[in-house]
Amino acid sequence: MGNTAEQIIDTTAFTGPVFRPGDTGYDAEIAGFQAAYTHRPALVVGAVHAEDVRSAVEYAARHGLPVAVQATGHGLSVAAAGGVLISTRRMTDIRIDPEARIARVAAGVRAGALVEAAAQYGLAPLNGSSPSVGVVGYSLGGGLGLLARQFGYAGDHVRIIELVTADGRVRMLTPGDELFGAVLGSGGNFGVVTALELELVPIATVYGGQVVFDAPLVEQALEAWKDWTATVPEELTSTVTVLTFPPIPQVPEPLRGRYVASIRIAYNGSAEEGERLVAPLRAVGDRLKDDLRVMPYTESHTIHSDPDHPHAYAATNALLGEFTGETLSALLTATEPIQAVVDIRHLGGALRRGGPAGIAVDNRDAEYVVRVITMPGPDAGDAVPAEHAVVRAALAPWTVGHSLNFLYGAGAAADEAQTRGGYTPDTYARLSALKAKYDPRNMFRFNRNIEPAD
Ligand SMILES: Cc1cc2nc3c(=O)[nH]c(=O)nc-3n(C[C@H](O)[C@H](O)[C@H](O)COP(=O)(O)OP(=O)(O)OC[C@H]3O[C@@H](n4cnc5c(N)ncnc54)[C@H](O)[C@@H]3O)c2cc1C
Repeated sequence: MGNTAEQIIDTTAFTGPVFRPGDTGYDAEIAGFQAAYTHRPALVVGAVHAEDVRSAVEYAARHGLPVAVQATGHGLSVAAAGGVLISTRRMTDIRIDPEARIARVAAGVRAGALVEAAAQYGLAPLNGSSPSVGVVGYSLGGGLGLLARQFGYAGDHVRIIELVTADGRVRMLTPGDELFGAVLGSGGNFGVVTALELELVPIATVYGGQVVFDAPLVEQALEAWKDWTATVPEELTSTVTVLTFPPIPQVPEPLRGRYVASIRIAYNGSAEEGERLVAPLRAVGDRLKDDLRVMPYTESHTIHSDPDHPHAYAATNALLGEFTGETLSALLTATEPIQAVVDIRHLGGALRRGGPAGIAVDNRDAEYVVRVITMPGPDAGDAVPAEHAVVRAALAPWTVGHSLNFLYGAGAAADEAQTRGGYTPDTYARLSALKAKYDPRNMFRFNRNIEPAD
């Protein structure tokens, strides 16, 4: 079978639209948040429900075609060249059972929509920093949330996975099924998720926001944050980001064009206790911005204020067993000559303990994750950016592994060596054996791919 979708397709088999290259709507359908790489499938199915997904997988299987999935394009790793792209952006159904504190989300639901829906019942999902990220893609990579130290990975709180496997079967997976734990952490390697059921937590407000220090205080702020994280309770999760804001009108004064350290805080506790906890950070000195407050959880996306417009980005990361003064100076030396956003998230707490389902997220003993995000130029190509290799080498003495959700980029940045960095050898071998059983032809290969075992 060829690697194209030239074969006759019965478009009436789908409720949603179908696009081929050259069709009106094709370019809009393949476009995603990641502007550096784009899927170029021979056929796009704009799925509106699980049956469309099943029909698309069945069609691809019949014709020996590989399958890519896209909800938002935030996490594109291997761009499809040919094959079938299942676009899930129309699958936006959310159902909430407030008594059971469970949400059922279809494949295309974004974090912000789920936050809004859950808030109507005084509940919150275990979402990450950006409201525009897809709930399913995020959870399939583990899902490191705003309150991760209190609740663990979002994937630890998934109850049911509805999955279309390579044989065209719709499976309802629950903890205990051999695929359940494998799917959560391996990002789409085992099929197309049509819906997830996940736990919500009773949180209506959060204390948090940003404390931002100008260039002269950046190193002091990093030192202070490092020491402070050793003292905070699990109910507090924080990140420090070092960046130079672009000198553009969209960036408000006084941040425009500045090199800063921005500490982002989410604390599930009272304003009084929050104020007491952050006092050592404020003691560093004058702040360019300090908007710490109790906010409705629906405003929690302002804690990180992630960019909301599509752009080109690439990133590497290192999960660190410890973060010492020596680690900090190695990081600053390696990143000083680079135009990059450097971001360090505090881990530990419930992340260390894991959940009952044993999901495929390893390196639970990591205390921090360091991310270095760069902006690839138009001719970046498929190589791992040289700056990423420099940062990895500098952090190697403290590195226990890598976070797959926070690895952005395609080509060699998504090759087997990089993917293996997310798992222990035992987990990788288990996933690879399951891949051989459920997807022996590697139909689902446009992702951080786990090769089927021989
Ligand atoms: C600005 C920004 C902020 C982020 N913040 C966080 C954060 O705080 N915490 C965190 O853990 N991660 C975070 N991420 C990483 C994000 O969780 C991953 O990139 C995730 O893969 C994005 O999923 P998506 O559906 O939005 O993107 P997409 O690009 O649409 O999907 C990414 C991949 O997920 C798989 N996938 C998506 N949907 C399905 C499906 N229905 N079935 C099977 N496979 C599927 C596919 O392999 C697909 O290529 C962030 C990313 C960005 C760009």
